[in-house]
Amino acid sequence: MAVEDVVVRGVVPDRPIRAFACTTTGVVNALQQVHRSWPVATAALGRTVSVGAMMAMQLKANERLTLQVDGDGPLGRIVVDADAAGHVRGYVQNPHVHLPLNALGKLDVGGAVGRGMLYVMRDMGLRDVYRGSVELQTGEIGDDFTYYFAVSEQTPSAVGAGVLVDTDHSVLAAGGFIVQLMPGHTEEDVAALEARLAGLASVTDQMMAGATAEDLMRRVLPEVRVLERRPLEYRCTCERERIRLVLKSLGRAELESMIREQGGAEVVCHFCNTRYAFTKEELAALMPEEERG
Ligand SMILES: [Zn+2]
Repeated sequence: MAVEDVVVRGVVPDRPIRAFACTTTGVVNALQQVHRSWPVATAALGRTVSVGAMMAMQLKANERLTLQVDGDGPLGRIVVDADAAGHVRGYVQNPHVHLPLNALGKLDVGGAVGRGMLYVMRDMGLRDVYRGSVELQTGEIGDDFTYYFAVSEQTPSAVGAGVLVDTDHSVLAAGGFIVQLMPGHTEEDVAALEARLAGLASVTDQMMAGATAEDLMRRVLPEVRVLERRPLEYRCTCERERIRLVLKSLGRAELESMIREQGGAEVVCHFCNTRYAFTKEELAALMPEEERG
């Protein structure tokens, strides 16, 4: 698929209705390769990444958004991180999970995620972290965020997210949409949206037929006007210097025990699997001067 990864935002003129849509095939393929994830894990992570990319459009320049899906299913925790510049990253605790297809013949994302909680954290700089949470409804991700928007943000929403995985585990298509009815919407707005959703092909079916992010949005809201379009990119923000500071914050006793027991330290970034090795000399240099033994 040569569809560029983008996220778009739009509104319906003269109606309190806004919408987002994204195509994330490239990003989800990059995540699949980084984590060597199996199909149901790729689908769960990819759906969450699509929702995160769309929600991040609401962020201000230096803010970050973290989504955490904490289910009791075999996948364990899913974490997705996105910023206002269109950078996304994510991981799933157990990427090597295989389950039989569900009753619809689809990847059993709900079964792999299980029941538990969904957390949304918005880091506004200055350690000001807003945290909303709801119980997972089905673990299918789209349903869980629909419930999150209704309960935690009092915004009736329709959320669609899909990932189509090929037999070689690569990603053929990934993307999603969010439509939100803002204060002032009418029963007619609800009915019109429900009618559109009822006849809608899946996100990945639409994408395989060539749909762009704008198309995904227009199929649900034909009258939508696109206001903004941003490219999306997989990027991990980890760096050796930041990990050095984390190690330093552990303090003398912890660093000494690492030196004694492991002869150094190896820290692995969950998001991108990059390994950062620190020798015992480097760890010793992290101890405060007056305490260095
Ligand atoms: Zn990383």
